[in-house]
Amino acid sequence: MFFDRIEAAPADPILGLGEAFKAETRTGKVNLGIGVYKNAAGNTPIVKAVKEAEKRLLASETTKNYLTIDGVAEYNAQTQILLFGADHEIIANGRAKTAQSLGGTGALRIALEFAKRQTGAQTVWISNPTWPNHNAICKAVGLTDKPYRYYNPQTHGLDWDGLIEDLAQAQKGDIVLLHGCCHNPTGIDPTPAQWETLAKMSAEKGWLPLFDFAYQGFAKGLEEDAAGLRLFLQYNRELLIASSYSKNFGMYNERVGAFTLVADNAEAAERAHSQVKGIIRTIYSNPASHGAATIALVLKDEALKAQWIAELDEMRGRIKAMRQKFVALLQANGATQNFDFIIEQNGMFSFSGLSPDQVDRLKDEFAIYAVRSGRINVAGITDDNIDYLCESIVKVL
Ligand code: PMP
Repeated sequence: MFFDRIEAAPADPILGLGEAFKAETRTGKVNLGIGVYKNAAGNTPIVKAVKEAEKRLLASETTKNYLTIDGVAEYNAQTQILLFGADHEIIANGRAKTAQSLGGTGALRIALEFAKRQTGAQTVWISNPTWPNHNAICKAVGLTDKPYRYYNPQTHGLDWDGLIEDLAQAQKGDIVLLHGCCHNPTGIDPTPAQWETLAKMSAEKGWLPLFDFAYQGFAKGLEEDAAGLRLFLQYNRELLIASSYSKNFGMYNERVGAFTLVADNAEAAERAHSQVKGIIRTIYSNPASHGAATIALVLKDEALKAQWIAELDEMRGRIKAMRQKFVALLQANGATQNFDFIIEQNGMFSFSGLSPDQVDRLKDEFAIYAVRSGRINVAGITDDNIDYLCESIVKVL
């Protein structure tokens, strides 16, 4: 017997919460755990532009033959346009190569495998706090993760001095993992001036930056949200990007992501990309078609793309409106501390400042589920649950 000695793995801190919520039997339960967008009715619907593209795809598809190792070519090309902007020199000069991946998670795994095998990287600097899978993937690949300070609990803002002090220790060739926008879990992003300082620091010190870009369009807009990445590209010739369409296309279960590498020139990009394909070949050989083909169809069609952008704007707008209402209602229910910082945060998440004990009480006494770090998914708030939510939070403060 080999298996009876195996220890049970701990439940994933975020996905485990979803399972607990499902099993919750109290009525009026509220899920602010996993980062999935919900509309005003509390549903996660299919984006209309996606539904239309899927219809067209089904009608026009003629084969189920394998894709190439790096996936749907048009999807990869459109991904670069979203990342860099259509007129960027990087695209014109062929300095970037993209491989379709299984979600942003798959892209991160490929990125770190590539860095470990091909660039000699040993250390990955990761913000503290971060999305816990960052650390887990580093470990899985055999890289050492080191934390850099990010959050200041006193100001509920960026710990800029701590961040700079910690990253000053990053060595040439180290990977520095940055959240492109909508930092998970804090919702706090660097300002443009701070991005520029980091970009220059990276170039001077010789870091290899890795952008995790899972929420493009959720902070200020598709173009605006790429500002940090594009500033980095002004100063750094080489860079890695793990992007995801799970959230901005609402295609969570189609596993649509991309790994993009930017090299100094087209020839170097091509050679590096051949190694990326080698990595993919030994994991899953080549990706699935449906999600990527659907997204390529939307992005290539002007009208469908415009429709998608309008729907994305609506998602972002709803979250922003909920932030405002949430803060106003906490105050109206008698909260004495100032929660205005929640309005300033970007994306789906808010670091609410709730302690693990308070989060536990919300679950035990009120059937309200959040991550113990105090992270709440603002998109889980609706007009129907917001009164109950704010009343309950004030009771545990
Ligand atoms: N990075 C961050 C910061 C995320 O929050 C997520 C999704 N929770 C991902 C990457 C991965 O997204 P995907 O579902 O596309 O794998």
